[in-house]
Amino acid sequence: MENNQKFIPGIYNWCDRWCERCPQTDRCRVYEREEDRKKNYPEKDWAEVVADNFAETLQMLQKMAEEMGLDLDSEEVKEETAAQMALEEAQEVIAENHPLHELSEKYWKKGKAWLDSPLLKEKVLQWKSMVELGVMDLDLAESNLRMADEAMEVINWYLFFIPVKIKRALHDQMDSFWDQYPDEERSDLGTAKIASIAIDRSIGAWGMLFKLFSEQEEVVEILAILEKMRRGLIEVFPNYPKFIRPGFDDQP
Ligand code: SF4
Repeated sequence: MENNQKFIPGIYNWCDRWCERCPQTDRCRVYEREEDRKKNYPEKDWAEVVADNFAETLQMLQKMAEEMGLDLDSEEVKEETAAQMALEEAQEVIAENHPLHELSEKYWKKGKAWLDSPLLKEKVLQWKSMVELGVMDLDLAESNLRMADEAMEVINWYLFFIPVKIKRALHDQMDSFWDQYPDEERSDLGTAKIASIAIDRSIGAWGMLFKLFSEQEEVVEILAILEKMRRGLIEVFPNYPKFIRPGFDDQP
């Protein structure tokens, strides 16, 4: 009981999954499970864990259905499932084609192309020769490198996270299930909120790169895409700031 009370319900649903930097690891059940997995099954990779969980969930579902007197193989259940799946697929297509999602796709593609280019390597070599020529202070070169490293770590972490979360938020917005909830608890708003946090942090990180690579037009273009996304998100989900992320927005 004591162990259960320390966990914050649903904290992992609206976090950025960056456990290494999370201040709430000791209150997160997902983190604890993952640590247990690493300790108990260090040889298992994620694909195996997901497969195990899938089988376990199916068994649990079957048991629950039996207890509720539900026949999962009945025509009625099959028809309902098919209708639900068709609806989910239609929502998925609409979300994928939404301009906000298209913008997020453009962002990761442009961002990845820049990160994969040899620009940083060239810049490092440039700093190195400037230090050797005595026109750049060694401390400044090292601080530039640290800044570039930190910026790229942040950008890489959120690069694919942003499109995934934007699509999820658009998808959930179409689900009338959330209409019965207040803004503080609506999943679509929570997902939009964590997407906006990821966008803000990415803007900060690209801004750091801009200081180091000010001659790079692509960095400015990428920043412009992020800013468009930031504005688009508040237009499409005007109430997302009201959402309270358990464990993060409700802590003193
Ligand atoms: S809440 Fe923190 S520890 Fe839990 S999954 Fe999210 S980032 Fe990781």
